[in-house]
Amino acid sequence: METPRSVMVAEQLRARGITDERVLAAMAEVPREEFVPPDLRRHAYEDHPLAIGGGQTISQPLVVASMTQALAPQPCDIALEVGTGSGYQAAILASLCCSVLTIERDPTLAATAAATLARLGFANVEVRFGDGSRGAPDQAPYSLIVVAAAASRVPPALLEQLAIGGRMVIPVGSASPKNQDLLLVTREGAEYTSRVLFPVRFVPLIEN
Ligand code: SAH
Repeated sequence: METPRSVMVAEQLRARGITDERVLAAMAEVPREEFVPPDLRRHAYEDHPLAIGGGQTISQPLVVASMTQALAPQPCDIALEVGTGSGYQAAILASLCCSVLTIERDPTLAATAAATLARLGFANVEVRFGDGSRGAPDQAPYSLIVVAAAASRVPPALLEQLAIGGRMVIPVGSASPKNQDLLLVTREGAEYTSRVLFPVRFVPLIEN
């Protein structure tokens, strides 16, 4: 049956370069409308970001899918997300990985996201309130790290907490949203390799 969600998957994702069937299946499964404020639900499957309160946004579906596909998530992955926002990206990762720890610095957003994820039955996600630029050393290392806010450089704590063989995506660039690139950082032993994937626009990562 055709639904706004299935149309989003076909027209915004599959038609525009998302080929990972597991990612497409997760985006077809997770009810995005549950992660946006009630008055914006009718816009949940549109091709753009939406305001979620606190001056923050839930990313455009294509951006979530592209970041997730770049991470090539596997069922055995242990994921860390910095910038929970609505919790939608965490839900997509939770559908694809073993577990997700997600950190949000805005207490209201953290509480709302935790409640949404619990209500929808995502038992393998932990939402934590705090500064995610320091990561979460108590559960490190992480085989996947996704940062959903733009930093001027990759925070050293996140590099340290990336597992050997792990993958991280992070928007890096100036505070002016026009100059950010999404980086894919991989780690092999003591060696880190980073590659620019595509230009993005994220809110700033606030480190404190
Ligand atoms: N992944 C989200 C979108 C995130 S928007 C989603 O799927 O909806 C970016 C979020 O990063 C915002 O909620 C912002 O409050 C948060 N943020 C910014 N700096 C942060 C930091 N240092 N630690 C944790 N969260 C941070």
